[in-house]
Amino acid sequence: HRLAFRDELTGLRSRRAMEERLPGLGPSFVVAMVDVDHFKKFNDTHGHAIGDQVLKLVAARLEEAGGDALAYRYGGEEFAVIFPDQSIESARPHAEAIRAAVEGYEMAARGPDRPRNEQTGSVMRQSRTPTQYLSVTVSIGLAARTVVDVPAHAVLREADAALYRAKEAGRNRVSV
Ligand code: GH3
Ligand code: MG
Ligand code: MG
Repeated sequence: HRLAFRDELTGLRSRRAMEERLPGLGPSFVVAMVDVDHFKKFNDTHGHAIGDQVLKLVAARLEEAGGDALAYRYGGEEFAVIFPDQSIESARPHAEAIRAAVEGYEMAARGPDRPRNEQTGSVMRQSRTPTQYLSVTVSIGLAARTVVDVPAHAVLREADAALYRAKEAGRNRVSV
């Protein structure tokens, strides 16, 4: 059960868990699609392992979101947050808080020359690059189910379209 419904890297609920949750949602809810900005470049610059650390820190910020939010790893560097029984107006401040928390978080990453063992360490420590503080931003698209019989998947598609608008508008923002 855990393997199917939890994402191994971030510990968030999985996309499959989200699929199972959607039919049980009430008549009104908001979904936020969250995508890391320029993440391919970040990986290319800092390496996949540090990229993985970033996904963990983004996941942690999503877990802290208010509004009874349910955070999921949707796939790759994309996340979905469901706000049950909420409107765009009530969910938007929580989405904005997520965006700001990710932007403000500085992740300490050790320099690439970190010594691998204690013996070589004393020599290498002198030449290692100092700790870097890295940060990323996310773009967020919001959509709400306002009409009862709109399928949940249609709301997800709308949130995806809103996410695309956030990217187009310059990233690091919440769009509706
Ligand atoms: P945009 O701002 O438009 O979203 O650009 P982007 O570079 O974030 O988007 P793109 O879809 O081009 O690249 C997504 C990158 O996310 C590519 C892939 O290597 C990286 N990625 C996906 N899953 C993982 C993962 O589990 N770990 C790491 N480190 N990288 C991942
Ligand atoms: Mg991205
Ligand atoms: Mg993406």
